[in-house]
Amino acid sequence: MTTPVSITFLGAARTVTGSMHLLQVGQQRLLVDSGLYQGHRDEAQRRNHDVPRAATEADAAILTHAHIDHCGNLPTVVKRGFSGPIHCTGATADVTTYMLRDAARIQVHDAEYLNRKHQHDRDWHEIEPLYNERDAERALERLAPHTYDAPFQPITGVTARFIDAGHVLGSSSVILDIDRGKRAEPLRVVFSGDIGRRGLPILRDPVIPSGADYVVMESTYGDRLHAPAREIHEQLAKAVDFTRERGGKVIIPSFALERTQEIVFALNQLVRSGRVEPIPVYVDSPLAINLTEVFRRHPECYDAETLQFEAESGDPFGFDGLKMVESVEESKALTNSTEPAVIIAASGMCEFGRVVHHLRRAVGDPNSTVVIVGYQAQHTLGRRFVERRKEVRVLGVMRERRCHVTVLDAFSAHADRDELLWWAEGCGEQVRRFFLVHGDPDQSEAFAEHLAARGREAHVPARGERIEL
Ligand SMILES: [Zn+2]
Repeated sequence: MTTPVSITFLGAARTVTGSMHLLQVGQQRLLVDSGLYQGHRDEAQRRNHDVPRAATEADAAILTHAHIDHCGNLPTVVKRGFSGPIHCTGATADVTTYMLRDAARIQVHDAEYLNRKHQHDRDWHEIEPLYNERDAERALERLAPHTYDAPFQPITGVTARFIDAGHVLGSSSVILDIDRGKRAEPLRVVFSGDIGRRGLPILRDPVIPSGADYVVMESTYGDRLHAPAREIHEQLAKAVDFTRERGGKVIIPSFALERTQEIVFALNQLVRSGRVEPIPVYVDSPLAINLTEVFRRHPECYDAETLQFEAESGDPFGFDGLKMVESVEESKALTNSTEPAVIIAASGMCEFGRVVHHLRRAVGDPNSTVVIVGYQAQHTLGRRFVERRKEVRVLGVMRERRCHVTVLDAFSAHADRDELLWWAEGCGEQVRRFFLVHGDPDQSEAFAEHLAARGREAHVPARGERIEL
């Protein structure tokens, strides 16, 4: 008898958030990622709360990397009864620890805020946070770290192996070799996770898996191109020089994971090489500070350039003039200071967190520059900066924007169309089908056409669709 194998696409199908897939091998079930769905509040609330039973009843889970749209709903899955191990790389386990604790604090804070705001509202039903810090700890207890390339058995009949995805620290694609019984050929299924870019700072390049029969692949930028990653340093140096000459501040709203460490390392290299004159650099985000420590603990994830830098010049994430801003008081003092400086602060889309206070001060200053280094979703303050609106609402007040805005498009943790094609073609001729997930429909479908034009079969599954392999 041949063991039946299927994949059910539970999330990130025809959208970019809420990654969740289920591989079923006979009676055994393996969950791959369990991310938060991020979108309009009511829908997000409902989707994140109502985790599919199939996910909570899985025997084991795989976590490809620590971004919140991949790991952020693990606490809910555990709360609803999942009791298996969550397999991931060692660096992903460490990064996820800080990411989930932070996510839990945000969930609790949001629920408290909304309940307080609506306390006199008769129709308001008090809401519970999606999960709290205790729930996050329970999920973290289930993490089972592995080294890259080391095989392990997540469920009976399946051998798994993580390879580098080059996306964020610890990120992986996972290769699953499935034994279908004596009379059938084994199957190799690959989940790409999020695919990074060649030449990104710090990380090794993505490794292309060989011999796959089926590939579940991300397609975030299935039809878009980025500036080459090697332009990161030059773009950043220009923005810093431009603002220093004017005596203003460079405000960089940044994701705490990866982008902050990339910028710190790039500034370190620029200052050391003499390309940029020394300037005070502040990292104003407790989460980013903790994650930078995790980077220091995982040199096994560094690429050759970073290892060489460390051997010759020391800490990639530390240099004269760099200061970590821990307390709220220090952060406020920094907001009010007039010294020219680079300030890297969360959140990355300018919606909340300490960066908002820096933006409030800088937005009306013609000598300061807001440097956008990450994706800015629609309806966020970050997107208004990208659109270079003349007026922007910061902390509830409409303000004239007199600061400069620079968008550095070489910074992206996601492969662009050509890099995705390079990865997909590298998988080999034997791939029977690509399943394209983690992309808006226009991006995924355009990428399916690019693959079809190269004679490859690709399918963009709908949420809830189940495919027998
Ligand atoms: Zn990601």
